[in-house]
Amino acid sequence: MSFLTGLRCLRCGTEYPIQRMHRGCAKCVDEKSSNVECTYDYAEIRRVFRKELLAERPPTIWRYKEFLPPDEENVVSLGEGMTPLVKCSSLGEKLKLKNLYVKDESRNPTWSFKDRLASSSCSMAVQFGAEVVSSRSAGNHGAATAAYGAKAGLDSVIFTLEAWPRTMKTLMQAYGAKVVHVPTWRDCWRLQDACVEEFGWYCFDDVASCRVGYDPYGVQGYKTIGFEICEQLGWRAPDKMVVPVGGGGSFFGSWAGFQEFFDLGLVYSRPQMIAGEVFGPLKNALAKGLDYVEEVPGRSTVAFSVGAVLSTYQALKVLLHSGGFAETASDEEIMEMQLELAATEGIYGEASGVLSLAVIKKLREMGKIHEDEVVVALMTSGGLKDPATTQRYLPDIPLVEPNVDALRKGLAEAYGYLLAEN
Ligand SMILES: *Cc1c(COP(=O)(O)O)cnc(C)c1O
Ligand SMILES: [Zn+2]
Repeated sequence: MSFLTGLRCLRCGTEYPIQRMHRGCAKCVDEKSSNVECTYDYAEIRRVFRKELLAERPPTIWRYKEFLPPDEENVVSLGEGMTPLVKCSSLGEKLKLKNLYVKDESRNPTWSFKDRLASSSCSMAVQFGAEVVSSRSAGNHGAATAAYGAKAGLDSVIFTLEAWPRTMKTLMQAYGAKVVHVPTWRDCWRLQDACVEEFGWYCFDDVASCRVGYDPYGVQGYKTIGFEICEQLGWRAPDKMVVPVGGGGSFFGSWAGFQEFFDLGLVYSRPQMIAGEVFGPLKNALAKGLDYVEEVPGRSTVAFSVGAVLSTYQALKVLLHSGGFAETASDEEIMEMQLELAATEGIYGEASGVLSLAVIKKLREMGKIHEDEVVVALMTSGGLKDPATTQRYLPDIPLVEPNVDALRKGLAEAYGYLLAEN
Protein backbone atom coordinates (compact mmCIF):
# COMPACT_ATOMS: atom_id res chain seq x y z
CA MET A 1 0.00 0.00 0.00
CA SER A 2 1.22 3.48 -0.79
CA PHE A 3 0.87 6.45 1.56
CA LEU A 4 -0.93 8.53 -1.06
CA THR A 5 -4.05 10.20 0.36
CA GLY A 6 -5.28 12.41 -2.49
CA LEU A 7 -4.61 15.41 -4.71
CA ARG A 8 -4.59 19.14 -3.97
CA CYS A 9 -4.56 22.20 -6.22
CA LEU A 10 -1.27 24.08 -6.12
CA ARG A 11 -3.05 27.40 -6.53
CA CYS A 12 -6.33 27.31 -4.58
CA GLY A 13 -5.81 24.30 -2.30
CA THR A 14 -8.97 22.45 -3.38
CA GLU A 15 -8.63 18.78 -2.48
CA TYR A 16 -9.54 15.87 -4.71
CA PRO A 17 -9.72 12.14 -3.99
CA ILE A 18 -7.26 9.75 -5.63
CA GLN A 19 -8.42 9.59 -9.24
CA ARG A 20 -7.20 10.07 -12.77
CA MET A 21 -6.64 13.78 -13.12
CA HIS A 22 -5.78 14.85 -16.65
CA ARG A 23 -7.09 18.40 -16.64
CA GLY A 24 -5.65 20.11 -13.57
CA CYS A 25 -7.77 21.82 -10.91
CA ALA A 26 -11.39 22.21 -12.04
CA LYS A 27 -11.71 25.56 -10.22
CA CYS A 28 -8.62 27.23 -11.64
CA VAL A 29 -9.16 27.92 -15.32
CA ASP A 30 -7.84 29.89 -18.29
CA GLU A 31 -4.68 31.84 -17.44
CA LYS A 32 -5.07 30.83 -13.77
CA SER A 33 -4.95 27.10 -14.67
CA SER A 34 -3.00 25.01 -12.21
CA ASN A 35 -1.81 21.48 -11.71
CA VAL A 36 -2.62 19.48 -8.60
CA GLU A 37 -0.05 17.80 -6.38
CA CYS A 38 -0.19 14.53 -4.45
CA THR A 39 -0.81 14.47 -0.73
CA TYR A 40 0.44 11.73 1.60
CA ASP A 41 0.00 10.46 5.12
CA TYR A 42 3.21 12.05 6.43
CA ALA A 43 2.64 10.86 10.00
CA GLU A 44 2.75 7.31 8.72
CA ILE A 45 5.76 8.02 6.46
CA ARG A 46 7.59 9.48 9.47
CA ARG A 47 6.83 6.31 11.41
CA VAL A 48 8.17 3.87 8.79
CA PHE A 49 10.86 5.75 6.83
CA ARG A 50 14.45 5.87 8.09
CA LYS A 51 17.34 7.00 5.96
CA GLU A 52 19.26 3.95 7.23
CA LEU A 53 16.79 1.78 5.28
CA LEU A 54 18.23 3.14 2.02
CA ALA A 55 21.44 1.12 2.36
CA GLU A 56 19.48 -2.05 1.59
CA ARG A 57 17.44 -0.65 -1.28
CA PRO A 58 17.96 -0.75 -5.06
CA PRO A 59 19.69 2.19 -6.82
CA THR A 60 16.47 3.36 -8.50
CA ILE A 61 13.79 5.95 -7.74
CA TRP A 62 11.88 3.20 -5.93
CA ARG A 63 14.34 3.31 -3.02
CA TYR A 64 12.07 6.20 -1.93
CA LYS A 65 8.86 4.22 -2.45
CA GLU A 66 7.14 5.73 0.61
CA PHE A 67 7.14 9.11 -1.18
CA LEU A 68 5.77 7.88 -4.50
CA PRO A 69 2.12 7.36 -5.47
CA PRO A 70 1.62 3.80 -6.75
CA ASP A 71 1.09 0.66 -4.70
CA GLU A 72 4.22 -1.47 -4.85
CA GLU A 73 2.70 -4.29 -6.94
CA ASN A 74 1.99 -1.85 -9.80
CA VAL A 75 5.49 -0.40 -10.10
CA VAL A 76 6.89 -0.33 -13.65
CA SER A 77 10.65 0.16 -13.51
CA LEU A 78 13.56 -0.01 -15.91
CA GLY A 79 16.13 0.87 -13.24
CA GLU A 80 15.73 4.67 -13.55
CA GLY A 81 17.28 7.12 -11.11
CA MET A 82 20.26 7.17 -8.73
CA THR A 83 22.21 8.84 -11.53
CA PRO A 84 25.70 10.07 -10.64
CA LEU A 85 26.21 13.47 -9.04
CA VAL A 86 29.51 14.37 -10.66
CA LYS A 87 31.82 16.90 -9.04
CA CYS A 88 33.07 19.03 -11.93
CA SER A 89 36.43 20.37 -10.80
CA SER A 90 37.80 21.37 -14.22
CA LEU A 91 34.68 23.16 -15.42
CA GLY A 92 34.26 24.53 -11.89
CA GLU A 93 37.74 26.02 -12.05
CA LYS A 94 36.95 27.70 -15.38
CA LEU A 95 33.73 29.16 -13.96
CA LYS A 96 35.42 29.97 -10.62
CA LEU A 97 33.09 27.74 -8.66
CA LYS A 98 34.54 25.55 -5.91
CA ASN A 99 31.58 23.23 -5.59
CA LEU A 100 29.99 22.65 -8.96
CA TYR A 101 28.13 19.38 -9.47
CA VAL A 102 26.38 17.94 -12.49
CA LYS A 103 23.51 15.57 -11.90
CA ASP A 104 23.97 13.46 -15.02
CA GLU A 105 20.51 12.40 -16.10
CA SER A 106 21.76 10.98 -19.39
CA ARG A 107 22.44 7.80 -17.38
CA ASN A 108 18.78 6.86 -17.24
CA PRO A 109 17.31 3.93 -19.23
CA THR A 110 16.18 6.06 -22.20
CA TRP A 111 19.01 8.56 -21.62
CA SER A 112 16.94 11.37 -20.15
CA PHE A 113 15.33 12.31 -16.84
CA LYS A 114 11.83 11.85 -18.32
CA ASP A 115 12.21 8.22 -17.23
CA ARG A 116 11.51 9.31 -13.65
CA LEU A 117 8.17 10.76 -14.71
CA ALA A 118 7.37 7.86 -17.03
CA SER A 119 8.08 5.25 -14.35
CA SER A 120 5.73 6.92 -11.87
CA SER A 121 3.04 7.74 -14.47
CA CYS A 122 3.12 4.30 -16.06
CA SER A 123 2.81 2.64 -12.65
CA MET A 124 -0.35 4.68 -12.03
CA ALA A 125 -1.65 3.85 -15.53
CA VAL A 126 -1.36 0.18 -14.52
CA GLN A 127 -2.98 0.90 -11.16
CA PHE A 128 -5.93 2.65 -12.83
CA GLY A 129 -6.30 -0.20 -15.33
CA ALA A 130 -5.48 1.79 -18.47
CA GLU A 131 -4.59 -0.08 -21.67
CA VAL A 132 -3.01 2.72 -23.69
CA VAL A 133 -0.47 5.34 -22.61
CA SER A 134 0.18 8.54 -24.52
CA SER A 135 2.26 11.69 -24.50
CA ARG A 136 3.01 14.71 -26.70
CA SER A 137 6.67 15.30 -27.09
CA ALA A 138 9.64 16.82 -28.87
CA GLY A 139 11.40 13.55 -28.11
CA ASN A 140 12.46 12.52 -24.62
CA HIS A 141 9.03 12.41 -23.05
CA GLY A 142 7.75 10.30 -25.94
CA ALA A 143 10.71 7.92 -25.82
CA ALA A 144 10.26 7.40 -22.08
CA THR A 145 6.49 6.91 -22.46
CA ALA A 146 7.09 4.31 -25.16
CA ALA A 147 9.74 2.39 -23.22
CA TYR A 148 7.74 2.18 -19.99
CA GLY A 149 4.57 1.36 -21.93
CA ALA A 150 6.47 -1.50 -23.56
CA LYS A 151 7.73 -2.79 -20.20
CA ALA A 152 4.19 -2.68 -18.78
CA GLY A 153 2.71 -4.42 -21.84
CA LEU A 154 0.60 -1.36 -22.74
CA ASP A 155 0.19 0.21 -26.17
CA SER A 156 1.60 3.70 -26.62
CA VAL A 157 0.63 6.54 -28.99
CA ILE A 158 2.92 9.57 -29.20
CA PHE A 159 2.04 12.92 -30.78
CA THR A 160 4.86 15.02 -32.20
CA LEU A 161 5.77 17.53 -34.91
CA GLU A 162 7.54 16.81 -38.16
CA ALA A 163 10.12 19.55 -37.46
CA TRP A 164 11.73 17.74 -34.51
CA PRO A 165 14.74 15.40 -34.91
CA ARG A 166 14.18 12.03 -36.50
CA THR A 167 16.53 10.31 -33.99
CA MET A 168 14.06 10.91 -31.20
CA LYS A 169 11.21 9.41 -33.20
CA THR A 170 13.31 6.39 -34.14
CA LEU A 171 13.79 5.81 -30.44
CA MET A 172 10.03 6.00 -29.81
CA GLN A 173 9.21 3.69 -32.71
CA ALA A 174 11.88 1.20 -31.66
CA TYR A 175 10.08 0.82 -28.33
CA GLY A 176 6.93 -0.01 -30.29
CA ALA A 177 5.15 3.33 -30.04
CA LYS A 178 2.66 4.44 -32.65
CA VAL A 179 4.18 7.85 -33.49
CA VAL A 180 1.96 10.44 -35.17
CA HIS A 181 2.85 13.84 -36.64
CA VAL A 182 0.25 16.59 -36.16
CA PRO A 183 0.16 20.01 -37.89
CA THR A 184 0.58 22.22 -34.80
CA TRP A 185 1.58 21.76 -31.19
CA ARG A 186 -1.91 22.66 -29.98
CA ASP A 187 -3.38 19.80 -32.01
CA CYS A 188 -1.58 17.36 -29.71
CA TRP A 189 -3.76 18.06 -26.73
CA ARG A 190 -6.93 18.37 -28.76
CA LEU A 191 -6.36 14.78 -29.84
CA GLN A 192 -5.18 13.61 -26.45
CA ASP A 193 -8.21 15.18 -24.80
CA ALA A 194 -10.50 13.37 -27.23
CA CYS A 195 -8.73 10.03 -26.70
CA VAL A 196 -8.84 10.29 -22.91
CA GLU A 197 -12.56 10.94 -23.20
CA GLU A 198 -13.40 8.33 -25.85
CA PHE A 199 -10.92 5.52 -25.21
CA GLY A 200 -9.72 5.97 -21.66
CA TRP A 201 -6.08 6.55 -22.60
CA TYR A 202 -3.70 7.44 -19.79
CA CYS A 203 -1.75 10.57 -20.80
CA PHE A 204 1.53 11.45 -19.14
CA ASP A 205 0.63 15.12 -19.75
CA ASP A 206 -2.34 17.22 -18.86
CA VAL A 207 -4.84 17.39 -21.70
CA ALA A 208 -6.51 20.69 -20.78
CA SER A 209 -4.08 23.40 -21.83
CA CYS A 210 -0.36 23.99 -21.89
CA ARG A 211 -0.75 25.90 -18.64
CA VAL A 212 -1.33 22.92 -16.37
CA GLY A 213 1.76 20.74 -16.71
CA TYR A 214 2.15 16.98 -16.62
CA ASP A 215 0.35 14.01 -15.13
CA PRO A 216 0.51 14.90 -11.42
CA TYR A 217 1.46 11.32 -10.50
CA GLY A 218 4.33 11.51 -12.98
CA VAL A 219 5.61 14.78 -11.52
CA GLN A 220 6.03 12.88 -8.23
CA GLY A 221 8.73 10.79 -9.89
CA TYR A 222 10.90 13.91 -10.15
CA LYS A 223 10.95 14.35 -6.37
CA THR A 224 13.62 11.66 -6.40
CA ILE A 225 16.02 14.15 -8.03
CA GLY A 226 15.86 16.21 -4.84
CA PHE A 227 16.06 13.11 -2.61
CA GLU A 228 19.08 11.70 -4.45
CA ILE A 229 20.99 14.98 -4.38
CA CYS A 230 20.48 15.27 -0.61
CA GLU A 231 21.61 11.68 -0.13
CA GLN A 232 24.57 12.05 -2.51
CA LEU A 233 25.76 15.27 -0.85
CA GLY A 234 25.80 13.46 2.50
CA TRP A 235 22.41 14.63 3.78
CA ARG A 236 22.56 18.26 2.88
CA ALA A 237 20.81 20.33 0.23
CA PRO A 238 22.74 22.43 -2.30
CA ASP A 239 22.68 26.23 -2.08
CA LYS A 240 21.55 26.59 -5.68
CA MET A 241 19.81 24.15 -7.96
CA VAL A 242 19.70 25.05 -11.66
CA VAL A 243 17.25 23.24 -13.94
CA PRO A 244 16.42 23.57 -17.66
CA VAL A 245 12.71 24.35 -17.51
CA GLY A 246 9.97 23.82 -20.06
CA GLY A 247 6.65 22.79 -18.55
CA GLY A 248 8.30 22.82 -15.14
CA GLY A 249 7.23 19.33 -14.03
CA SER A 250 10.78 18.48 -13.08
CA PHE A 251 11.40 21.91 -11.57
CA PHE A 252 8.37 21.52 -9.32
CA GLY A 253 9.08 17.86 -8.61
CA SER A 254 12.70 18.30 -7.58
CA TRP A 255 11.75 21.26 -5.37
CA ALA A 256 9.01 19.17 -3.74
CA GLY A 257 11.63 16.49 -3.03
CA PHE A 258 13.93 18.96 -1.26
CA GLN A 259 10.93 20.36 0.62
CA GLU A 260 9.78 16.92 1.85
CA PHE A 261 13.23 15.94 3.14
CA PHE A 262 13.44 19.34 4.83
CA ASP A 263 10.01 18.89 6.43
CA LEU A 264 11.03 15.45 7.71
CA GLY A 265 14.21 16.90 9.23
CA LEU A 266 16.51 14.88 6.96
CA VAL A 267 18.24 18.07 5.71
CA TYR A 268 18.42 21.51 7.30
CA SER A 269 18.08 23.82 4.33
CA ARG A 270 16.48 24.07 0.91
CA PRO A 271 18.12 25.31 -2.26
CA GLN A 272 17.32 28.46 -4.13
CA MET A 273 15.78 27.17 -7.36
CA ILE A 274 16.91 28.69 -10.66
CA ALA A 275 15.11 28.09 -13.94
CA GLY A 276 17.15 28.01 -17.14
CA GLU A 277 15.01 29.06 -20.10
CA VAL A 278 15.35 29.74 -23.80
CA PHE A 279 12.59 32.31 -24.39
CA GLY A 280 12.00 33.30 -20.77
CA PRO A 281 8.27 33.03 -19.98
CA LEU A 282 9.06 32.60 -16.28
CA LYS A 283 11.60 35.41 -16.29
CA ASN A 284 8.91 37.60 -17.85
CA ALA A 285 6.29 36.60 -15.27
CA LEU A 286 8.67 37.37 -12.39
CA ALA A 287 9.71 40.70 -13.88
CA LYS A 288 6.05 41.73 -14.21
CA GLY A 289 5.05 40.36 -10.81
CA LEU A 290 2.39 38.11 -12.35
CA ASP A 291 0.85 35.16 -10.54
CA TYR A 292 0.41 33.30 -13.84
CA VAL A 293 2.63 32.86 -16.88
CA GLU A 294 2.13 34.83 -20.11
CA GLU A 295 3.13 33.65 -23.54
CA VAL A 296 6.35 35.23 -24.87
CA PRO A 297 7.69 35.27 -28.45
CA GLY A 298 9.62 32.22 -29.65
CA ARG A 299 11.75 31.09 -32.60
CA SER A 300 13.50 27.88 -33.55
CA THR A 301 16.22 26.83 -31.09
CA VAL A 302 18.85 24.13 -30.61
CA ALA A 303 17.26 23.54 -27.19
CA PHE A 304 13.97 22.29 -28.63
CA SER A 305 13.22 20.10 -25.57
CA VAL A 306 12.76 23.28 -23.52
CA GLY A 307 11.85 25.69 -26.31
CA ALA A 308 8.62 26.74 -24.62
CA VAL A 309 6.94 30.11 -25.13
CA LEU A 310 4.76 29.39 -22.11
CA SER A 311 5.32 27.69 -18.78
CA THR A 312 3.12 26.69 -15.86
CA TYR A 313 1.96 27.87 -12.48
CA GLN A 314 3.72 24.91 -10.88
CA ALA A 315 7.05 26.28 -12.16
CA LEU A 316 6.29 29.86 -11.13
CA LYS A 317 5.28 28.70 -7.65
CA VAL A 318 8.70 27.11 -7.14
CA LEU A 319 10.40 30.40 -8.01
CA LEU A 320 8.18 32.34 -5.63
CA HIS A 321 8.55 29.85 -2.76
CA SER A 322 12.28 29.26 -3.04
CA GLY A 323 13.21 32.89 -3.61
CA GLY A 324 14.55 31.78 -6.96
CA PHE A 325 14.80 33.39 -10.35
CA ALA A 326 14.96 32.59 -14.06
CA GLU A 327 17.63 33.32 -16.65
CA THR A 328 17.93 32.64 -20.37
CA ALA A 329 20.82 31.58 -22.60
CA SER A 330 21.24 31.89 -26.36
CA ASP A 331 21.82 29.05 -28.83
CA GLU A 332 25.48 30.08 -29.12
CA GLU A 333 25.99 30.01 -25.35
CA ILE A 334 24.28 26.64 -25.11
CA MET A 335 26.31 25.01 -27.89
CA GLU A 336 29.55 26.43 -26.51
CA MET A 337 28.71 24.88 -23.15
CA GLN A 338 27.76 21.55 -24.73
CA LEU A 339 31.27 21.21 -26.13
CA GLU A 340 32.95 22.68 -23.06
CA LEU A 341 31.26 20.19 -20.73
CA ALA A 342 32.08 17.28 -23.00
CA ALA A 343 35.71 18.33 -23.47
CA THR A 344 36.42 19.17 -19.81
CA GLU A 345 34.32 16.66 -17.90
CA GLY A 346 33.60 13.87 -20.38
CA ILE A 347 29.84 14.44 -20.25
CA TYR A 348 28.10 14.88 -23.60
CA GLY A 349 24.66 16.32 -22.98
CA GLU A 350 21.75 17.30 -25.18
CA ALA A 351 21.63 21.05 -25.90
CA SER A 352 18.54 21.45 -23.70
CA GLY A 353 20.28 19.47 -20.98
CA VAL A 354 23.31 21.75 -20.72
CA LEU A 355 21.16 24.89 -20.63
CA SER A 356 21.52 24.74 -16.85
CA LEU A 357 25.30 25.08 -17.16
CA ALA A 358 25.12 27.79 -19.81
CA VAL A 359 22.95 29.76 -17.38
CA ILE A 360 25.34 29.11 -14.48
CA LYS A 361 28.18 30.54 -16.55
CA LYS A 362 26.16 33.70 -17.18
CA LEU A 363 25.08 34.01 -13.56
CA ARG A 364 28.70 33.72 -12.42
CA GLU A 365 29.60 36.61 -14.72
CA MET A 366 26.65 38.60 -13.36
CA GLY A 367 27.73 37.82 -9.78
CA LYS A 368 24.44 36.11 -8.96
CA ILE A 369 26.15 32.89 -7.87
CA HIS A 370 29.02 32.98 -5.40
CA GLU A 371 32.28 31.11 -5.59
CA ASP A 372 31.79 29.03 -2.42
CA GLU A 373 28.21 28.01 -2.98
CA VAL A 374 27.27 24.39 -3.57
CA VAL A 375 25.72 24.52 -7.03
CA VAL A 376 23.99 21.61 -8.74
CA ALA A 377 23.24 21.72 -12.46
CA LEU A 378 20.64 19.28 -13.62
CA MET A 379 21.92 17.92 -16.94
CA THR A 380 18.74 16.40 -18.24
CA SER A 381 19.58 14.27 -21.31
CA GLY A 382 22.34 12.80 -23.45
CA GLY A 383 23.89 14.42 -26.52
CA LEU A 384 23.25 11.46 -28.82
CA LYS A 385 19.57 12.46 -28.93
CA ASP A 386 20.53 15.11 -31.49
CA PRO A 387 24.10 14.72 -32.78
CA ALA A 388 23.25 16.57 -36.03
CA THR A 389 23.12 19.90 -34.21
CA THR A 390 26.47 19.29 -32.48
CA GLN A 391 27.99 18.40 -35.84
CA ARG A 392 27.26 21.88 -37.15
CA TYR A 393 29.64 23.25 -34.52
CA LEU A 394 32.48 20.81 -35.18
CA PRO A 395 35.27 20.85 -37.78
CA ASP A 396 35.08 18.57 -40.81
CA ILE A 397 37.16 15.43 -40.36
CA PRO A 398 40.31 15.61 -42.49
CA LEU A 399 41.37 12.67 -44.65
CA VAL A 400 45.15 12.33 -44.30
CA GLU A 401 47.71 10.33 -46.27
CA PRO A 402 49.51 7.80 -44.04
CA ASN A 403 52.63 9.87 -43.32
CA VAL A 404 53.49 12.15 -40.44
CA ASP A 405 53.80 15.30 -42.56
CA ALA A 406 50.30 14.85 -43.91
CA LEU A 407 49.02 14.12 -40.41
CA ARG A 408 50.73 17.29 -39.11
CA LYS A 409 49.05 19.33 -41.84
CA GLY A 410 45.65 17.70 -41.35
CA LEU A 411 45.63 18.22 -37.57
CA ALA A 412 46.79 21.81 -37.88
CA GLU A 413 44.23 22.71 -40.54
CA ALA A 414 41.21 21.02 -39.00
CA TYR A 415 41.92 21.49 -35.30
CA GLY A 416 44.72 24.03 -34.97
CA TYR A 417 46.53 21.20 -33.22
CA LEU A 418 50.30 21.34 -33.66
CA LEU A 419 52.58 18.32 -33.57
CA ALA A 420 56.15 18.91 -32.36
CA GLU A 421 58.66 19.54 -35.12
CA ASN A 422 61.35 16.84 -35.31
C1 LIG B 1 11.41 17.74 -20.93
C2 LIG B 1 12.79 18.23 -20.86
C3 LIG B 1 13.14 19.32 -20.05
C4 LIG B 1 12.13 20.18 -19.33
O1 LIG B 1 11.37 19.49 -18.40
P1 LIG B 1 10.01 20.13 -17.89
O2 LIG B 1 9.59 19.22 -16.80
O3 LIG B 1 9.07 20.17 -19.04
O4 LIG B 1 10.33 21.50 -17.40
C5 LIG B 1 14.48 19.65 -19.93
N1 LIG B 1 15.43 18.99 -20.61
C6 LIG B 1 15.13 17.96 -21.42
C7 LIG B 1 16.25 17.30 -22.15
C8 LIG B 1 13.81 17.54 -21.57
O5 LIG B 1 13.54 16.52 -22.37
ZN1 LIG C 1 -7.43 25.35 -7.99
